[in-house]
Amino acid sequence: MKFSELVTYFERLENTSSRLDMMAILAELYKKITDPDEASMVSYLVLGEIHPPYVGLELGMSEKLIIRSISMASGYDANQVESKLNELGDIGKVAEYFISKKRQMTLFTTELNVKRVYDTLDKISKTSGEGSINDKIRLLASLLVDASGLEARYIARIAEGVMRIGVADMTLLEALSIHLGSREYKPVLEEAYNMVPDIGYITKVAYEKGIEGVKKIDIKLGIPVRPMLAERVKSPEEAWEKTNGQLAADFKYDGERMQIHKDQDNVLIFSRRLENITYQFPDVVETVKKSVKANKVIIEGEAVAIDKNTGEFRPFQELMRRKRKYDIEKMIKEIPVTLRVFDIVYLNGENLMKKPFPERRKILEEIIEESEWIKPSELIYPKNVKELWDFFLLAIENGCEGLVIKNAGPESIYQAGARGWLWIKLKRDYRAELVDTLDLVVIGALYGRGRKGGNLSSFLMAVYDPDNDIFRSVCKVGTGFKDEDIAYMNKILKPLLRDKRPARVESGMEPDYWVEPKIVLEIQAAEITLSPVHRAAYNVFQEGAGLALRFPRFTGRYRDDKSPEDATTEKELIEMFKQQRRKIE
Ligand code: ATP
Repeated sequence: MKFSELVTYFERLENTSSRLDMMAILAELYKKITDPDEASMVSYLVLGEIHPPYVGLELGMSEKLIIRSISMASGYDANQVESKLNELGDIGKVAEYFISKKRQMTLFTTELNVKRVYDTLDKISKTSGEGSINDKIRLLASLLVDASGLEARYIARIAEGVMRIGVADMTLLEALSIHLGSREYKPVLEEAYNMVPDIGYITKVAYEKGIEGVKKIDIKLGIPVRPMLAERVKSPEEAWEKTNGQLAADFKYDGERMQIHKDQDNVLIFSRRLENITYQFPDVVETVKKSVKANKVIIEGEAVAIDKNTGEFRPFQELMRRKRKYDIEKMIKEIPVTLRVFDIVYLNGENLMKKPFPERRKILEEIIEESEWIKPSELIYPKNVKELWDFFLLAIENGCEGLVIKNAGPESIYQAGARGWLWIKLKRDYRAELVDTLDLVVIGALYGRGRKGGNLSSFLMAVYDPDNDIFRSVCKVGTGFKDEDIAYMNKILKPLLRDKRPARVESGMEPDYWVEPKIVLEIQAAEITLSPVHRAAYNVFQEGAGLALRFPRFTGRYRDDKSPEDATTEKELIEMFKQQRRKIE
């Protein structure tokens, strides 16, 4: 197909806002094409892609480079091109403008066809290393030289990775189903695409083997499946209703979702958006090699950052620091991550998606060799709403966002690519950052991770209730202490350590040592949450729950100027919690 013909379809698509028209235009386009490879290229180009996103070969040329290509192909100065871009704001329109009034009239222009455009863009996507920038500019210019204004519009846009014709993958699948004979084939195409999210591949199979061929498309190890997503509810009661009580409750970890493909010793990690992120997590790769006892498998889990001293979960933002491309080795040490595995969709050649959740979960548990770095997610099958409530509070207490509730009935398949009621998320509802710091009293001390017999490195902290003269626990803090702080704390705590709980102290947590209330530390936290473990404001907001600080951190300030009775009071904490709620409502 000539490229000039394809772009007339692009232009028609761009000019319509009706989904029906769009479908008709796409179906007409597919009708024009007979060659499967060409159809596959066209599908990619309509979406502004050259490869499926998981391949990680995005064109994404910067505006600067495209400007240089336009300048090279049209003979206009790059500054002129740039100021036109400031005026029009669309690199496609800019390319069209300059290419249609090309100064350097080349004597021999060769008409573009789809294959040449696709192959050249493909080459650009694969050009890397030294001198690659100039090569990319030259390759793009070689297309623009032979292009008409309209062709240039779309070539420039594809190069930038933004098509602006409003066609999404699902629209394209529907158009393909019409091309195959019936709109009713759409679910079949969708199911195939959810397992192999490569629009070019699906198009090719559809052209070569028709709908029967598409039906046979199955999971492929090494190609990420589209992730199953969750609906949301506001309360455990609602979740119970939605699942008719046939449910499992799973901690909702606050980290990064990972889909992990293991083929013997070859491990690939894909993000929620199906990008290959293996290079960022060499530590996870090692863990999976060592601890996942299966040759060929696809599992899903959440990677969570942990504090390197205490082993406790850290907020999502810290994990995001791992996104940097540099110093990965250093980052691994500074921000270790642990994996909580929550599903399995493929094992040794078998697609497990159609198995009910409890069966998948059982298989999953059998192949994971637990360690500090990898575990199946924390999960229960609650017998009543009360158990679900308690587990929800426990999840928050453990630094999680809440629960993902999983339907555990016979229909509970893995619904790839869908947001449905088989998974339901129940999140804690307040997220405001606490501005104020709190001055809390040390009432307990605990050994750090793998440091038994070494230093006490995290501390149970309390607010003060002056009416009853009691110190009630509100968090355990292990973050923010430098080595010299730990040494200092161990020294000053020594005379205060007790084996039995001091009379003026209350907590649902058992520290390694209790501490006579004396020392006051300044603590910063992300927010206040309900907690089944801590005793501050116990039963005030909810039966069986107190208040706790989420992600507490020592600011470095020892409040020697305060006696324990001057510490933040329980009443103040209650006020802060109410304010935080108001802010959100
Ligand atoms: P959110 O921002 O709430 O994570 P989302 O759109 O990324 O939303 P949802 O499907 O709505 O995703 O919520 C489920 C998400 O929760 C998953 O994508 C995953 O990253 C995360 N998660 C954490 N723990 C679990 C778990 N045990 N089971 C399933 N998903 C979990």
